[in-house]
Amino acid sequence: MHSNLTPMLITKSKFVAGIQCLKRLSFIVHEPELAAQPDESDQSIIEQGRQVGLLARQMFPGCGVVDARNREEAIRATRELIENPEVPAIFGGAFEHRGVFVRVDIFQRRRDQRWRLIQVKSTTDVKDHHLDDVAIQHRVVTRSGVDLAASCLAHVSRDYVYEGGPIDASRFFRIRNLTRQVERLQPELTVQLRSEFRVLAMPEAPNIPAGRQCSEPFTCEFFDHCNPPIPNDHTGRLRRACASVQMGEPWYGPELRDELGKLKYLPSRADIQFPSALR
Ligand code: SF4
Repeated sequence: MHSNLTPMLITKSKFVAGIQCLKRLSFIVHEPELAAQPDESDQSIIEQGRQVGLLARQMFPGCGVVDARNREEAIRATRELIENPEVPAIFGGAFEHRGVFVRVDIFQRRRDQRWRLIQVKSTTDVKDHHLDDVAIQHRVVTRSGVDLAASCLAHVSRDYVYEGGPIDASRFFRIRNLTRQVERLQPELTVQLRSEFRVLAMPEAPNIPAGRQCSEPFTCEFFDHCNPPIPNDHTGRLRRACASVQMGEPWYGPELRDELGKLKYLPSRADIQFPSALR
């Protein structure tokens, strides 16, 4: 049971985690000690994302940076930069609305003094889950009183060819305008946010069985907790083997028949219709 049930703040990353699985969101907030530690490959993905983010900044020289880690300080610093017409763009701008807090990778001031939000990704295309990421930022920024003209995603261009020397960021990235898509998502976000706040107020994580969501779109950090290894004699191992034997799939052989015979929970060898080749 969770001990801390004070009103929750949902950040962008928690919101996106909750879309993958509400139980994941609950674990992240209330039981983070259940998560697997990031391995080397996770660390290198994080570092690659950081490098790509830094490269994207080169497209906007002379920009203001909000590096305060404290939420209120970051929001205040962002406001000050927005109010300064000399600032062409802001990196890491912080916004909050009704318990949802987001940091925006790049917030660009347009000539008409309206703003363009740009989320940077190290992928070579826009993925479905990126839309949720941009949509929650779009929601919070527009509702916190900023005149947002467009919400975009910058991803690595498939057409970019490295020709040696420093990377030309303006050719390395392709910026896609997702404004219409993320506006269409807003009613769904309202429902999702309601569910997320409700789950965070629950005394225990919701009882959600493991499934495809455990590895899509990312492998969940609580995968091992929710998917303990199946013992060798568990009946769960039988389903695929039996189906394959019954369908006469080509990979079975006498070894499989012997292995099936050893399984502790096999009800009766007579219950399985072995193809004639295995009898
Ligand atoms: S492992 Fe699966 S069920 Fe468990 S929290 Fe993660 S996504 Fe949800």
